[in-house]
Amino acid sequence: MTQKPLMAANWKMHLSIREAVNFVARLHEAVGTPDDREVLIAPPFTHLWALREAMGAAGYSLAAQNCHWEEKGAFTGEISLPMLQEVGCTYVILGHSERRHIFGESDEWVGLKTAAAFAHGMSPILCVGEKLEEREAGRTEAVLLRQLETGLARVPSERIEKLVVAYEPVWAIGTGKTASPEQAQEAHAFIRGWLAERFQKEIAKNIRILYGGSVKPDNVDALMAQPDIDGALVGGASLDVASFGRIVRFQ
Ligand code: PEP
Repeated sequence: MTQKPLMAANWKMHLSIREAVNFVARLHEAVGTPDDREVLIAPPFTHLWALREAMGAAGYSLAAQNCHWEEKGAFTGEISLPMLQEVGCTYVILGHSERRHIFGESDEWVGLKTAAAFAHGMSPILCVGEKLEEREAGRTEAVLLRQLETGLARVPSERIEKLVVAYEPVWAIGTGKTASPEQAQEAHAFIRGWLAERFQKEIAKNIRILYGGSVKPDNVDALMAQPDIDGALVGGASLDVASFGRIVRFQ
């Protein structure tokens, strides 16, 4: 892996703008600007503009939590990639399980969004992961395969190193149940193997695969010690400066 580990906060629909600005200042006081890992925050859309300057000054990356694949048009309530770039986003989270399972986003939509992110030079963070009943039925790999194949169907291989994949088992998100480091490693190795076949082995080695699902200060070190875990996508624990700061400083 030549890229830095990516430690990403997904704030979902939490924090006011004032709290968010304050959070970035306090996080910077706590962890500074690490040169051996990348820090990313995905706040609600309304906070992006206000955070842009502080994030840039701290050397942190800014992400959106979703986007539409079209550049503009009659899509009430949607946000386009050029709009996100205008407010400083370089990453966009796509296909998060809450989008898929609460809002009914299809694999095809996620594929259109991922292709559009590449077309605009942004890095998609493509989320994949199985539900508990799918894991129990022995269908984890089949689900990952379907989400990867459709999610990346339209992606050009020449820019693929911009891709980030987040393995987020749905049963571990916001539940306090974390996949064991071995379970996570097994899924990550499967994803990397698929990427190597779909693109190239050398390129697949450098695509960051994040783990997400109840990452906390007390489990991050063991997860990050796994050979195919290149970062974390953190929900609940990213809302607290001390917790997220400790996660950023994994050992
Ligand atoms: C997430 O929302 O991507 C997530 C992993 O949440 P949590 O860390 O709360 O499980």
